[in-house]
Amino acid sequence: MRVVGLLGGTFNPIHLGHLRLAEELANALNFDEVRFIPSANPPHKPVPSVTAKHRAEMVALAIQNNAKFKLDTTELQRAGASYTIDTLKSLREELGENTSLCLIMGSDAFVKLDTWHEWETLINYCNIILVQRPQPQKTPLNTILQAFLGDHYTENNDDLVNNPAGFITMQAITALDISSTNIRNDLSAQKSTRYLMPDNVLNYISQHQLYQLQDSSAL
Ligand code: ATP
Ligand code: MG
Repeated sequence: MRVVGLLGGTFNPIHLGHLRLAEELANALNFDEVRFIPSANPPHKPVPSVTAKHRAEMVALAIQNNAKFKLDTTELQRAGASYTIDTLKSLREELGENTSLCLIMGSDAFVKLDTWHEWETLINYCNIILVQRPQPQKTPLNTILQAFLGDHYTENNDDLVNNPAGFITMQAITALDISSTNIRNDLSAQKSTRYLMPDNVLNYISQHQLYQLQDSSAL
């Protein structure tokens, strides 16, 4: 059984929180690879200020030195809203039944899972790994999601590694309090964002003048 971690996100821009998350889970669950899947048209967010092509390019730069990390552009090739269920269906077709697909989600994403398109079907196509991320206020899980979690929950990582889909687990990670929102705010206020992202991503942002970064010398 191959084990493939899936990290979907807007990556607007990618930061060290994403990379540490992927690295720690890759080690904990012995992933053969981690796919970073930029969302072209995130259904639950305003249209991103930076194009999907730029966001994917920054992901490519950020992961270039890690042999297990791959950029997956599936969602960039599809028109319309980027629904995770469609991505999982196409990944399942590509990778076959002998692959455990492990969808990685921060707690902030999981508390809204029941608003996702065909959300109850997701678990037929993947396992889910939940991680805590630092949040000012934690939103409690509603009863529907509590029941869903209870139906699929396991504390045994072998369940995820040995099954293509169907299980949910929680993993402790080093919580890095970094978010793309804060990075975008700092960039547009011309504040330093060094050491929150790899340098090559920072250089890319500066070169392409993304996020209204006017004066790169201010970095
Ligand atoms: P934004 O502020 O624009 O929403 P973000 O920093 O939350 O950006 P996303 O692209 O939305 O980044 O996140 C993709 C996935 O990575 C989500 O499942 C999210 O919970 C998770 N994630 C993002 N940052 C962290 C972090 N610092 N620690 C753990 N998980 C994270
Ligand atoms: Mg987010």
